[in-house]
This record gives sequence, structure tokens and C-alpha cells, in this order.
Amino acid sequence: MKRIIIASQNKHKIQEIEAITKKFGMFLVPRSEAGIPDIEVEEDGETFEENSYKKAYEIMKLAGEMTIADDSGLMVDALDGAPGVYSARFSGAGATDRSNNEKLLALLKDVQEEKRTAKFVSVITMIYPHGDKIVARGECQGRIIFEERGSGGFGYDPLFVPDGYDSTFAELGAEEKNKISHRARALEILERELRCRQKDL
Ligand code: IMP
Repeated sequence: MKRIIIASQNKHKIQEIEAITKKFGMFLVPRSEAGIPDIEVEEDGETFEENSYKKAYEIMKLAGEMTIADDSGLMVDALDGAPGVYSARFSGAGATDRSNNEKLLALLKDVQEEKRTAKFVSVITMIYPHGDKIVARGECQGRIIFEERGSGGFGYDPLFVPDGYDSTFAELGAEEKNKISHRARALEILERELRCRQKDL
């Protein structure tokens, strides 16, 4: 089984990717554990696909091995899809999960419950050293509530209730989130594609 480098540095994402892919029998290694120089890849694309490709490609060049990257974020309908690719830095330089969530709640304060629909998006790109790529996009629909609930997860999890549930991602716990999340859906698509190609797993 060939190993696959995880380009993402976000420890929450890495934990989720490892937990989700454990059942697929994939051999994933975070880049920090693969001896790859600690460079910052600038996320200056306008789409999740562009940023995901850029992160995977830059790290694949350093690693010389198969590499995956996750670019993800929250898209809120009442905000025309914002924060989108700017999810991590929504509240500006030095943004934290708390300041991002506060900004989101402030922008939505006059928006009624039925208009607070949103989705999480994750685009996972896998690049082979010979240049081939697989792009997998996963989405999870839900809504934004009026105040934070729950202590699990990260980012916007305390504000996001997925369709079909009454609990936020932060209340659901890792195991349940990892069954239905945008990231789980993207990784399932990647795994299916890898299995179809019948190689490298
Ligand atoms: P990226 O590193 O540019 O992909 O930033 C992703 C950002 O989107 C994170 O910093 C979070 O703010 C948000 N995000 C992505 N996935 C999730 C998730 O599963 N839960 C909560 N927030 C998420």
C-alpha cells in the first residue's frame, strides 16, 4: 500500500481525515510527519477547487509522493455564499473561530430561521507525482442557529445544524459528524474513484 501525504496543516481536519479514512484502509501521513519543509501555501484562489489543487500540488512537488489537500468552508445562502473560500479569515487578520462565529451571527441577526440555510463544502484534491489528479467535492446542507451550541469539532461547528438533525456538529460528536459531513462525502468519492482505478490503495 503506497502512502498518501496530507497537505493540510489544520489539526482538526487531519484528525477527521484520519478517522474517516481508517475504514477505507488508506495509508495517510500528515506532511509534518513526513519530513516535508514547513512552508505556507497562499490560498489566493477564488474557488475551493483552485485552493485545494494549489495546496496539493505545492506539497506534492516537495514530497514527490501522492498528496491530498482539503479546502473547505461554509456557504450561507442569506449572505450570497459567504464566507465561502474566506471562511478561515472571515473576520480579518488574526481571525479565530470565535471571532468568525461572532461575525456570522452579527450578519445574520435579522435573518429568520427559515432563511438561515447554509452548506459546508469540502473539496479534496489528490495529485499523483506524474501529475494525474482526482478532485472530490462533498457538501453537507443545514442551517445556522442563533447562538453557539456544543463543544466538539472546530470552526463553525457550534452554529451549524445539518439537515435531518436537531443538534449542531459541535453537539453531535466526532463519530456522527464523520458519517455525514462534507469532508466524509468528499473522501468517500475519492475512495470510490481510487477503487475504480484499482491502484495505489
Ligand atoms: P481552509 O483551511 O481555507 O480550508 O479553511 C477552512 C475553514 O472553513 C476553517 O478554518 C473553518 O472556519 C471552516 N470549516 C471547514 N470545514 C469545517 C468543518 O468541518 N467545521 C467547521 N468549520 C469548518
